[in-house]
Formats: sequence, C-alpha cells, structure tokens
Amino acid sequence: MAGKKLTCFECGQINRVPFDKLGAGPKCGTCGTGLMSGKVVEVDLATFEKAARTDDVPLVVDFWAPWCGPCKQMAPQYQSAAQEFKGAVRLVKLNTEAHPNAGAKYRIRGIPTIAAFANGKERARQSGAMPKSAIVQWVKKSV
Ligand code: ZN
Repeated sequence: MAGKKLTCFECGQINRVPFDKLGAGPKCGTCGTGLMSGKVVEVDLATFEKAARTDDVPLVVDFWAPWCGPCKQMAPQYQSAAQEFKGAVRLVKLNTEAHPNAGAKYRIRGIPTIAAFANGKERARQSGAMPKSAIVQWVKKSV
C-alpha cells in the first residue's frame, strides 16, 4: 500500500499515511497520537534518528538547551513556523543537555542550530536564533 512513512514521536511506530491525508490530522495507528499536529514536539535522540532516516516527510530539528537564552527566545518563533508547515514538514526539538550524545554526533558547535532532513539525509543547517519569517524561508528552501 502506498503511503508516506511517518515515525510517531510518542511511541516510535512507523505509520503509512496516504499523501492526501497528510493535512487531515493523521494519527498513529498504535498509540493514537497526532502525527502532524503542527506543534513542535520534544524528541529524544533515538526517535529523532529513526524519523530522520525513515520518514518520507521532511523533518526539521532544533538543537537547543535550557540554559541557552537565544534558544528560549526562538522557541515561540519556531513553534509559529511549525504551525505554518502543518501537513507538509514536521518540526521537532532536541535538548542537547538531556541528550549530550546528539551534540557530539551531529557536531553541533553552537546553539540554537536547526537542521533539515529529507529522504534520509541532512539537507541544510543553520546556527543562531531566527525570527519566524526567516525560519519559514529557510525551511522552504532547505527541504
Ligand atoms: Zn504512536
């Protein structure tokens, strides 16, 4: 059966969602969590890597940490951008303090850093806090 693969951020299940249903609030077949809520979801490293490797829908991740002022300033801007991409691109965040392996593995030099993944590969990354309009533009050209 054709469908776009989407990893559930809650339980890790890989779901197949028909292309024309991506904007219709698809839910995980296993746990019922919304797969394209338009909300930024906090993910752990394992879930993030599974989604980056598997998903047919582009994924953007914000590497951040609670002690980082610019990260906190950008959070509402990032959330607002996520809403704009509902049904098309998923935006998540990864706490590099809670998951220190993530920073080393992805060679994150400064935070916030956002990175875009599509078709199993990193397509682009950008460091530094950005307003919503810049995030939206960057995502559009990156995925
Ligand atoms: Zn699930």
